[in-house]
Amino acid sequence: MTRPSRALIDLSALRHNYKLARSMHGGRALAVLKANAYGHGAVACAKALTDDADGFAVAFVAEAIELRTQGISNPILVLEGCFDQQDLDAAIAHDLWIVVHQDSQLTAIENTQTRPGALNVWLKVDSGMHRAGFEPDLVKAVYARLKACPGVGQITFMSHFACADEPDNKMTQNQIEVFDIATAGLPGDRSLANSGGILAWPKAHRDWARPGILLYGADPMPNRNHGLKAVMTLQSQVFAIRTLMPGQSLGYAATFTAEKSTRVGLVAIGYADGYPRTAPTGTPIAVDGQLTRTIGRISMDMLTIDLTDLPQAGIGSSVECWGPLVDINDVAQKAGTISYEPLCNLKRVPKIYI
Ligand SMILES: *Cc1c(COP(=O)(O)O)cnc(C)c1O
Repeated sequence: MTRPSRALIDLSALRHNYKLARSMHGGRALAVLKANAYGHGAVACAKALTDDADGFAVAFVAEAIELRTQGISNPILVLEGCFDQQDLDAAIAHDLWIVVHQDSQLTAIENTQTRPGALNVWLKVDSGMHRAGFEPDLVKAVYARLKACPGVGQITFMSHFACADEPDNKMTQNQIEVFDIATAGLPGDRSLANSGGILAWPKAHRDWARPGILLYGADPMPNRNHGLKAVMTLQSQVFAIRTLMPGQSLGYAATFTAEKSTRVGLVAIGYADGYPRTAPTGTPIAVDGQLTRTIGRISMDMLTIDLTDLPQAGIGSSVECWGPLVDINDVAQKAGTISYEPLCNLKRVPKIYI
């Protein structure tokens, strides 16, 4: 028997989520495909969205070139911009859009010859996250320098939110105000909203949105009521069963001890597949469509689940680690992380596109 573990990737759910994001935002949207489309496979996701998407976004140039090499001709924005001259030359050669967030990138553009208007640039403003971007009071000067470069075509203004997934956090409103003041009177498109901005901050809806996590059906807002569909189902099977007597412990470090007779299912998924090792006893998981919990430590290739109240489950029963029944947000929360991380960490299991 081959190992019965796989990630089903539902591309129609991806398209559904993209269209929903676009209509909620009411403008154009770059589908964010960085980190191999949050673990879902960037090429397959780009191909599935190519007819609908206004464009794509990735973190660095090599990710964009992979899409171009696979025949993707939509606009592609490189969110971290160019790291060096070679990157910039490649971005021009592959007709990429680039973010400019610091002076070295600006200087490189000034020192590079290209066809007039060939290079579309997204000028990143630091509106308060203080990670990347130009200080608000430098924006007009940076814009003027870009404008003076014959190779630069369109200039779009962007910023990124620190707390968009916290509906009561005042920081987002502040960031919007800082951005608007910094860019006041300058011509060009604007882009502010990531997934949280699209779902919760209408004032952040501008010319372009940049949905990431929501495309994959993991709703980042606390109420999770936006009608997103899970794209990935991480599936496996129960491949062995045992019953623990009261007092017997289970797995590495013996973290779980049975208080009563406990029926344990062994599942062929572990942290080497990207399932979070920090998920404690009690993390939700589904067996044959019914919710139960993990028990004991997550191993490298296996994990253990509680089948005590599921007497009909047995060897060969199907297991959903996350997907339509088990919200990956709940798994991530139990494991002390966010949905993004286990998705990006997916590895080893075959991806099956449906
Ligand atoms: C990753 C990223 C996004 C997408 O963020 P989500 O929270 O996944 O929607 C948008 N913009 C930038 C600059 C990013 O780095």
